[in-house]
Amino acid sequence: MNDDAGPGPGTDGGWEVVVIGAGPAGYAAAIRAAQLGMRTACIDKSLDREGNPTLGGTCLNWGCIPSKALLDVSHKYAEAAGHFGELGIGVGDLSIDVPGMMARKDAVVTRLTGGVGALFQGNGVTALAGSGRLLGNRRVEFTPHDGEATVLEAEHVILAPGSVPIDIDQAPLVPGTVVDSTGALEFDAVPGRLGVIGAGAIGLELGSVWSRLGSEAVILEALDEFLPMADQRIARDALRAFKRQGLDIRLGCRVMRAEPSGDGVTVTYQDASDEHVVEFDRLIVAVGRRPYTEGLLAPDSGVNLDERGFLYVNDLCATDAPEVYAVGDVVRGPMLAHKGAEEGVMVAERIAGHKPLVNYDCVPNVIYTHPEIAWVGRTEQSLKADGENYRTGTFSFGANGRALAANDAEGIVKIVADAETDRVLGVHVFGPQASELIAQAVIAMEFDASAEDLGLTMFAHPTLAEAVHEAALGVGGRAIHMVNRKRA
Ligand code: FAD
Ligand code: AMP
Repeated sequence: MNDDAGPGPGTDGGWEVVVIGAGPAGYAAAIRAAQLGMRTACIDKSLDREGNPTLGGTCLNWGCIPSKALLDVSHKYAEAAGHFGELGIGVGDLSIDVPGMMARKDAVVTRLTGGVGALFQGNGVTALAGSGRLLGNRRVEFTPHDGEATVLEAEHVILAPGSVPIDIDQAPLVPGTVVDSTGALEFDAVPGRLGVIGAGAIGLELGSVWSRLGSEAVILEALDEFLPMADQRIARDALRAFKRQGLDIRLGCRVMRAEPSGDGVTVTYQDASDEHVVEFDRLIVAVGRRPYTEGLLAPDSGVNLDERGFLYVNDLCATDAPEVYAVGDVVRGPMLAHKGAEEGVMVAERIAGHKPLVNYDCVPNVIYTHPEIAWVGRTEQSLKADGENYRTGTFSFGANGRALAANDAEGIVKIVADAETDRVLGVHVFGPQASELIAQAVIAMEFDASAEDLGLTMFAHPTLAEAVHEAALGVGGRAIHMVNRKRA
């Protein structure tokens, strides 16, 4: 982190914007504020493994990026181990060098966290390494890692302290053995028997990494339903696919106890019928994340929390304290890097007098399993529950030329549209590169496209995106590459 970056406080000794937290929400806010000509400082207290200040928050250091680095490597490994033969490619003895894989992951992280430092410097954001605490009247106490606290005067404050993994009393962490998501990105070897508590995005992704590399992975999920927030047809297909891949996903199983035993851990869980005991070498606790507000607010800060412990904000991310905003995981809404980044940019622009809004109806969700799961907008089950009239169009990657050519043809695209207006209400993808395909759905929905609009758009052939085109055509019973349920 560069403590010398930026112009420094003005001659009046104050800052126009002080941001607390340099994760995707905070750093995006700081960069945009500086781009708009405001004297901006961004405080962050994260330290890397060597004890050096690091920017980028959870996302770059312990979240999105390192997890994707391991997912991409483990996917290549699983392809080589399981599917290269189908392509006529012979591989000799396959092996995985876990320290090598980790070193590469760390190099990707270092490159990107260094990139945030370079962006701060290039845009004139002053990075301050240490803790920030909001006092009253837009004053921020800054305590450097190795120095005395000072008070910064700010015209506007943006709070972006993020979130941390939830711990549960039933499974206290034991370094190297019972770990949270951060520990699961640091294993020094492939665990023989791996337990995961929680079948959310993080549990599925981390379970997939180690299962692809050879762990016998069991995922214990308290709910009876798999991925209740996703389209339920897709959730069913995905559950089947993941089980086939070797992930032993057990639903309706609530973990009661996890106790160290020898080098491993003994887990007791309860399902509908009985109590069960399983032994694992390593256990990942992935039961969700909570907003992180420890030490953030002085008693007279004027900022309030909501009943779930998030910083309370309105639709424009304003807290109850004048000119104090909060963005990212620490406020309501999905805990996703891009959601926080959009909020950060919106707040910076509003401070500068612009009037953007975040469209919370168009936040894409992705689970980076294989196949990936991605969606935006409403699910069929939520529309049905609300008694709304809708039509659906579905297309299978099994009939998509590019997916078949790539030997990657599992999954579907499903589009849900309003029955009267044909406006696209939701797009759901389970399939290859779903994370990339969903972007076009987000654009379509941002522009209020109808399914017909998407159907009238020309898509390059052969591409995976043609499955989106065909699903859109299917809403009106006009798909070409499948037999429509109804004629149009
Ligand atoms: P954070 O990234 O948590 O950053 C907050 C920063 O503020 C931290 O550096 C923290 O140290 C600092 N801070 C906190 N309090 C203070 C203080 N008082 N003083 C100074 N500094 C402070 N999201 C996605 O969108 N896509 C994904 O694929 C994805 N994968 C994930 C995988 C894993 C394993 C995990 C754990 C998370 C993943 N997420 C993903 C979620 C994503 O990481 C978060 O949504 C995102 O990082 C939140 O951004 P943020 O800026 O709000 O907070
Ligand atoms: P998410 O919040 O999407 O990251 O997912 C976390 C998952 O962990 C949720 O689906 C919870 O139901 C699940 N979970 C929470 N506590 C337990 C527990 N004690 N045993 C099993 N699953 C749990």
